[in-house]
Amino acid sequence: MAVSPKSPLSRRRLLREVAPGAAAMVAAAPFSFAGRRGPTAAGSDQVAAARITARMETIARFGATPAGGGSRTGGSDADLAARAAFAGWLEDAGLTVRIDFAGNLIGRLEGSEPALPPLVSGSHLDSVPDGGNFDGVAGSIAALEAAEVFQSGAPLCHPLEVVVFFNEENGKTGSRALAGEVTPEELDLPLHGGFSMGEALARVGGSPERITEAPLSPGDVAGYLELHIEQGPVLDTEGIEIGAVEGIVGIRRFRVTVSGFANHAGTTAMAIRRDALVTAGRFIAAVSDETNRWPGRQVATVGRIEAEPGAANVIPGEVELSLEIRDLRMETIDALYDHLRQAGSEIAARNQTTMRFEPYYLSRAAPCDTAYVDLVAATADDLGCSVARLPSGAGHDAQSMAPLAPIGMIFVPSRDGISHSPREFTPMEDIVRGAQALTAALRRLDGVAG
Ligand SMILES: [Zn+2]
Repeated sequence: MAVSPKSPLSRRRLLREVAPGAAAMVAAAPFSFAGRRGPTAAGSDQVAAARITARMETIARFGATPAGGGSRTGGSDADLAARAAFAGWLEDAGLTVRIDFAGNLIGRLEGSEPALPPLVSGSHLDSVPDGGNFDGVAGSIAALEAAEVFQSGAPLCHPLEVVVFFNEENGKTGSRALAGEVTPEELDLPLHGGFSMGEALARVGGSPERITEAPLSPGDVAGYLELHIEQGPVLDTEGIEIGAVEGIVGIRRFRVTVSGFANHAGTTAMAIRRDALVTAGRFIAAVSDETNRWPGRQVATVGRIEAEPGAANVIPGEVELSLEIRDLRMETIDALYDHLRQAGSEIAARNQTTMRFEPYYLSRAAPCDTAYVDLVAATADDLGCSVARLPSGAGHDAQSMAPLAPIGMIFVPSRDGISHSPREFTPMEDIVRGAQALTAALRRLDGVAG
């Protein structure tokens, strides 16, 4: 990663200048994952289960909510406090700490061949409002744990950079800035907490004025590997310990408008109606049926619907609904969209109505490097873990890194697939197992990455 010209930050300076009030938050309500200990994994690169557990508990204190979750939105006092604590751990582990223009907190461990570009691993410490204790935190702490292991054991050839990305939950700001995707206008967007994204960026020690200087170039990073909780039910349901992520799915959203004719609900015979809501209803059923029938793991959803004029005694003349399609392959999304659009037009015509589609949101799929998927699966297998290959239906910082470097992701199970909720839960033994897999995978990558 390009080194920001800022001087390394000491923990004292972080607490004093960047996170006023953070020190007080360290003493906030106690939090405990007590009684959960990780397994003993094979191999010489041994992670420390107790240290991982203690750090998870510490981060959970910042922004702790009565429901047992956490509110640590990007740039909030709780976020600043968590980052300050994390920076202290990076420093204590002997890493050189800096914050880049995009507010990413980075710890660098030199390798035996300093000329090589770094391997990068990390995640985020910010959360959604009233979120859980594991999303992002597990991956940040696992990356730090890998650095601890390499620091005290055999060094890597590559430098290793541990990154806590800024504001993942509200737009992946820190990681997208590295890919050159954040515009200065975006910094005016209001964030939870009453300040703008630019103000939040300044609060964490980034530089709103120089955000456009944050981007990296391909070649600046040798490879990126992120551990994350699955946030879905696959691993938990199937009792599988490690997920080798195949990629992050792409998303396309469309505004669908059905036009019919609004008329009196008492005097208009059934046979001559042009009921936009009836068309919409048949279309929604078709979206579910056709997507189910389509070969593959794509998903399509109508999540919002609005009928006009919206009265009990008027036949709906116009209906607007949303259509969202996700898949690992953009070609599948496009092909399914064409199919659903055709089906919709036919349904509309049969009902003397019309249907119009307008795209309004696109998030490109980010496939993981196939060599990384294989490497993660083989590493997990060697550690004696059960492993499954699966796509990620949720977005991650890894997605932003994909244009810059080969990426890989490791998933650990989410109990009942619940996430972005105080009920989000992953047993500590799963997180420790994941950290062990991440560490072993980084060791392997070190041997093969450019
Ligand atoms: Zn996350």
